[in-house]
Amino acid sequence: AWARVKRRLRAELGEDVFASWFARLELEAVAGGTARLTVPTRFLKSWIESHYLDRVLNTFKAEVEEIARIEVGVRGTGAPARPVAAGVAKPGPASGPLARLHATSAPIPIAAVAPAAEARNADAGGDLSGTPLDARLTFASFVIGRSNALAHAAAERVANHQGEGALYNPLYLHAGVGLGKTHLLHGIGHAAREAGRRVIYLTADRFMYGFVNALKTQSALAYKERLRGIDLLILDDVQFIQGKSIQAEFGHTINALIDAGRQVVVASDRPPTELEALDERVRSRLGGGLVVEITALDEALRVSILSARLSAVRAAHPGFDVSPQVATYVARAITANGRDLEGAVNRLLAHATLTGTAVTMETAESAIRDLVKNREPKRIKIEDIQKLVASRYNVSRSDILSERRTAAVVKPRQIAMYLSKVLTLRSLPEIGRRFGGRDHTTVLHAVRKIEKQIGEDAVLGDEVELLKRMLQD
Ligand code: ADP
Ligand code: MG
Repeated sequence: AWARVKRRLRAELGEDVFASWFARLELEAVAGGTARLTVPTRFLKSWIESHYLDRVLNTFKAEVEEIARIEVGVRGTGAPARPVAAGVAKPGPASGPLARLHATSAPIPIAAVAPAAEARNADAGGDLSGTPLDARLTFASFVIGRSNALAHAAAERVANHQGEGALYNPLYLHAGVGLGKTHLLHGIGHAAREAGRRVIYLTADRFMYGFVNALKTQSALAYKERLRGIDLLILDDVQFIQGKSIQAEFGHTINALIDAGRQVVVASDRPPTELEALDERVRSRLGGGLVVEITALDEALRVSILSARLSAVRAAHPGFDVSPQVATYVARAITANGRDLEGAVNRLLAHATLTGTAVTMETAESAIRDLVKNREPKRIKIEDIQKLVASRYNVSRSDILSERRTAAVVKPRQIAMYLSKVLTLRSLPEIGRRFGGRDHTTVLHAVRKIEKQIGEDAVLGDEVELLKRMLQD
């Protein structure tokens, strides 16, 4: 039943909202009409409690009638969840950060940040039209980098193609989750529609649903004709196409469109050869056009996607400010995909709204903690610290090791000493030796001084935090 509750939540709230808030929600126990759920962070707990408790309760009730209450706890702390009954969850007297959130904002963050996802799933009606296109997912908002340049170029050419016949038919894009397939498909759909072409965009689910429905109402023929009467068919996530008769229909549809010179664009999480569920002939047809892979986002691309996202959000929330240090940290920490980057921006915004304060390195870290892959802590070398700090402050490593005492060199030298003390197990005398043969009291002085300055100067604090994290991953 729990799996069904989660599926329902995903369907009702949309993929992005679900991934941001509910992907890590787990059921711990059900007792006496109370379902106890857990999440990995306190932040997620308070967010779900303040925004989604009724939703979760009602969804749960729909599956398991006896459930009357929901409790949310934080995993791994051992602390018992503070019980909050759904429906009376709103904090009573208006005080504290939660109250501020309710007072100032209510639906701001989610509505403003992820309208797209909700819109995407909103139309679950029974007509035979396609899934609506998400207005946000256009070529204009797509950031191009090394890993997706080819896919993007092919998508644009297909979308803007004029005249008879089709280019690369089908265009087949494949990539892991969150790498921009759906975004490109919607971009193609928008551009082709603007050019006056008849476009249908369908997810695999929607394609199957359409068929099952059509079969039920004995309008399968009409459905097929409708599909075949268009200029461009876009099919997302074809790896989910299941069921013998539907696969057969899928094959017929693709063949008919391609044979008639209509453009077909397909996306999947794997190359056509690995679509085991599909018939060999359908697979080879799918692979018979242009197959392009989008590979993992490199760091430069992550930084660009993140800053594009941040400025879009900032346009809607002028008070929301994220320092370049925090942005760099997030783009370095979240290596997996665009969806997690987007999730991270949602979290930062929610955090800022909840607490009414600027996003610091600390709050950023706790907000995105569960999106960051756990990695083995790394052995850090003093030499690497010196190199990194030098390049960050535009001096050379030999400046840092030298006797020079100009402020431009002293400060990075002291920061490097401080980082050597906190990030390595070296003793003060050892660190002194590695910094051009200095005395251990010099090192101690530098460590104390930086410690003190970090306490007083938040910008320096963030800067040092950023350096730490750059060294740690
Ligand atoms: P996929 O369909 O491959 O799982 P999506 O297209 O849904 O991935 O992308 C996930 C999120 O990341 C979306 O919000 C999307 O807008 C964003 N995204 C991914 N790649 C890019 C990009 N190159 N430029 C801008 N946004 C991107
Ligand atoms: Mg997708």
